[in-house]
Amino acid sequence: MLTDTQRAELTTKLTAEKTLLEEELAKLGTRNPSNPSDWVANKPAGEEFGADHTDNADIFELEQQNNATLNELEGRLNNVLRALEKMSAGTYGVCEVSGSEIEVERLYANPAARTCKAHMGDEHSLA
Ligand SMILES: [Zn+2]
Repeated sequence: MLTDTQRAELTTKLTAEKTLLEEELAKLGTRNPSNPSDWVANKPAGEEFGADHTDNADIFELEQQNNATLNELEGRLNNVLRALEKMSAGTYGVCEVSGSEIEVERLYANPAARTCKAHMGDEHSLA
């Protein structure tokens, strides 16, 4: 069972990570106004599709990279937000697979962890 001090420390870590991720996301994209948990990648600055097919391929590749980075950051942010919600709901620190308590050292290493160590491998398949 987490102590109040541990909870407060983990909340601070989660809040700091949330701020950091939102800053990174704001550099690469904009929040979808109709779905705040969804981010849309910006077009690379000053680049427009034109007649030059080599340039077009470069721009396309850059967009693909932006999208991949954006999706990864978006996934991490949504995990952090979920953890903060659980913190206020009083369900933080419980494995979503087995319902056991998540190891304290695992939470300190990854405060947004959704599973205990035994179920780390299942985390990616959680909804
Ligand atoms: Zn578990």
